[in-house]
Amino acid sequence: MRVIILSDIHGNFDALEAVAQRVCDTDVIVVLGDIVGYGAEPDRCVQWVREKRACCLLGNHEACLLGMLPISWFNPKAAEALLWTKKNINFSSLSFLESLPSCFEAYECLFVHGSPRSPIEEYITSPWQAREIFEEENFAVCFFGHTHVAEGYVWDGRKVYHIPFREGGELVLEDGFRYLINCGSVGQPRDGNPKASFGIFFPEERRLEVQRIEYNIQAAMRKILIAGLPEVLAYRLEVGG
Ligand code: ZN
Repeated sequence: MRVIILSDIHGNFDALEAVAQRVCDTDVIVVLGDIVGYGAEPDRCVQWVREKRACCLLGNHEACLLGMLPISWFNPKAAEALLWTKKNINFSSLSFLESLPSCFEAYECLFVHGSPRSPIEEYITSPWQAREIFEEENFAVCFFGHTHVAEGYVWDGRKVYHIPFREGGELVLEDGFRYLINCGSVGQPRDGNPKASFGIFFPEERRLEVQRIEYNIQAAMRKILIAGLPEVLAYRLEVGG
């Protein structure tokens, strides 16, 4: 059995379509929030996760669309894209997003968008912060998203070890260790690698693969520019930043 872990699709259907090629009918799909925002095809992305019966979480972009997070929380380009999304997303997609929880547990793992102590808002960006979270919260393995950086933090009870997944990679989860793992962003990677990023988790083997795959970036960029979204949202896709 495989669990496909997707996060931060951000309305980039071209990236999602490429990832979908790697998904089998028997896979379970989890989506750790931010299905929409930034990209030009929010409805197509929502439709795909609904068709696949993916277990989806609320991200900060969905929270803003639903009036649960003020738009002033976001930087100006993100806010502009959110206003665009609000205008262009259909009612059916919006009511689906409204039904999403902010965290869930399965396969002895916790799944959140941001962090275990602040599921929608907190960005985990350093080993020091990871250590604080390991000490404050009670979980063995937590999958998160939000930062758009594919990386993991491992805690042995004394020290935090950092594992980059910039080029993808593999990790076997061992007893006696705790893990905070980000499988990266499907639709807007920010770790310097523009390839779409996602995870494949094998619960029985406690094994994770993070994959980076090519997709038609030019097509996604063109759609953002044609839609009249901020140009920087197109150009950042090329550099993965
Ligand atoms: Zn995001």
